[in-house]
Amino acid sequence: MNKESCLFCRIAKKEIPSKIVYEDDTALAFEDINPKAPVHLLVIPKLHIERVSDIREDDFELVGHLVSTANKIAESRKIRESGYRIIINCNKDAGQEVTHLHLHLLGGRKFSWPPG
Ligand code: 5GP
Ligand code: ZN
Repeated sequence: MNKESCLFCRIAKKEIPSKIVYEDDTALAFEDINPKAPVHLLVIPKLHIERVSDIREDDFELVGHLVSTANKIAESRKIRESGYRIIINCNKDAGQEVTHLHLHLLGGRKFSWPPG
């Protein structure tokens, strides 16, 4: 998947509409199109990184920023105390469908463990 045809790069460039809830120079957060919980947002880097296993030392600050962004949104959505999950699926067995790094922020209901 090259970045010209990448779905989430195109969302970041506003070529494809989405419900954006947060944006800065390096990160974007938007509502998942098929929410699995009352709060289900995706937090992505604007940089095209395909999967979490591709993260290099140069990206550590960016990845920390993505987690911090998810935490701030959890706070603003009032799920900080009740709890939430941040999930990153990597490759086929984990069910990664979009080949652009994304953190799922899920909350607003109780989740089971272990995941299916
Ligand atoms: P993955 O399975 O790769 O971890 O998660 C991909 C997520 O992207 C899914 O939860 C799916 O609902 C979401 N998604 C797929 N296409 C779109 C889209 O066009 N817009 C938005 N907002 N979310 C999408
Ligand atoms: Zn991309």
